[in-house]
Amino acid sequence: MTRITLLEHAGSLTPKPRIHYLNYLFTVPEHASRVGLTLRFHKRELAQIFVALFDPNSFRGNRMNPSAKGDIQLDLWIAPNDSSEGGIAGALPAGTWRAQLDIERLGEDVEYQLVAYADFDTVPRPVDSTFPENHVVKAEAGWYRGELHAHSTESDGKHPVDTVIQAAVDAGLDFFALTDHFTVSQWRKLLPHLDKPIALLRSVEITSHHGHANLHGMKSWVDVYVDRPDWSMNQAADAIHAQGGLFCVNHAFSGSLGWRAFNFDWGRADLMEIYHNLEGCNNAFQLMLWDQHLNAGRRIIGVGGIDSHNPFEGRHKLGQLVTWVEADSLSEQGIIAGLRRGRVYVSRGPQIRFSASSGSQRAQMWESLQTDGQPVELGIKVLTDETVRLFVIKNGYYFDSLLISAQPGTWQTVQFEDQPQQPAYYRVELHSDAPREEYRGIMWRDHDTMRALTNPIWVNRRDLEMTPRS
Ligand SMILES: [Zn+2]
Repeated sequence: MTRITLLEHAGSLTPKPRIHYLNYLFTVPEHASRVGLTLRFHKRELAQIFVALFDPNSFRGNRMNPSAKGDIQLDLWIAPNDSSEGGIAGALPAGTWRAQLDIERLGEDVEYQLVAYADFDTVPRPVDSTFPENHVVKAEAGWYRGELHAHSTESDGKHPVDTVIQAAVDAGLDFFALTDHFTVSQWRKLLPHLDKPIALLRSVEITSHHGHANLHGMKSWVDVYVDRPDWSMNQAADAIHAQGGLFCVNHAFSGSLGWRAFNFDWGRADLMEIYHNLEGCNNAFQLMLWDQHLNAGRRIIGVGGIDSHNPFEGRHKLGQLVTWVEADSLSEQGIIAGLRRGRVYVSRGPQIRFSASSGSQRAQMWESLQTDGQPVELGIKVLTDETVRLFVIKNGYYFDSLLISAQPGTWQTVQFEDQPQQPAYYRVELHSDAPREEYRGIMWRDHDTMRALTNPIWVNRRDLEMTPRS
């Protein structure tokens, strides 16, 4: 085996002026059997620098290790039939390639060394990593539960793809989105799991310097490096829509990882995380922001996410929070279509059904009902193993509540009536009714008591374009 160094660069970085990306070009000759990058730097406190690789035509992977300290070495390499974690295996075309440093967060001066190399040996046949477009796990329509936010060692998760997928199956999930940061190298590693009883989504997490967003239902990689003058979060959203997929705003209040993409057009958001399992009390702000968007008539569907970096541990453990979706089939396409339709709720235990009627009209979650001056009746069914308090939220405000006692295995039905004078939306929250010392005597609800959150039913919103974006 022969190794040729294609690029050797030593540089330094300072926190100011703020630089988002640095790019280095190098030339890869014909017949390379492997192309790789090595980035070395020393981190004292805060220096998160990631490295990405592009061939003359496309993105070939990203490597990150945000929590490491001291002497850090990031290795990213690809071969026709294999790769490092984060790297996308496939043919290695000759020509001008690009290494990109992503300076995610920097609080100190840093010296770094970047090396690009190519190996020459017997060139293996490129792997076929074509993901099937119409793989159906189960043809029946129904309610399916899954996880929309998780990571593996392809980015900064603790376990490799195989372990994470098996854990998702063992947790009883029907669908699963492995949203590794930046890269889609995990897709190829999903292929051996297509025989499992779980629908696997092609997803990625945009991890920008101004906010994070999950893309679901992808056909090919979307440029996730949105901190550039010529490529923004808006353009990434348009790119995923062009592929028929969905754009989800993640953990909007997560400090410096929260949403700060102030030029983002929220009309381009399909989904947002309304409950994130690691975010604690920030979930209250997510709900308030969501209500603000709903009041403005934006069709943004609320979803949950654990953001699991370890499927077995603590608040990262899979299955403790799920998003339920009513889908026409258990398949990637079925789940994406179901999410878009909005018959979706988030749960930490109970199951729930929510519909509304007025005269002869009926509506399901995310549909709009015309009351023509008639009262509206909200019909809610709950299946719960613990006693919960059901809250009806109207236009973001408390409307009414009711105690529902634990009845494992039995659906309980309750109804509420209203005579809305103005256009309105209603949504339902279930909360644990366990007494809380510090708030005795009031009906307390917060992020910790949350057990289920539905999407809304709209009433008399004739002004809204309620048909899903196709
Ligand atoms: Zn994130």
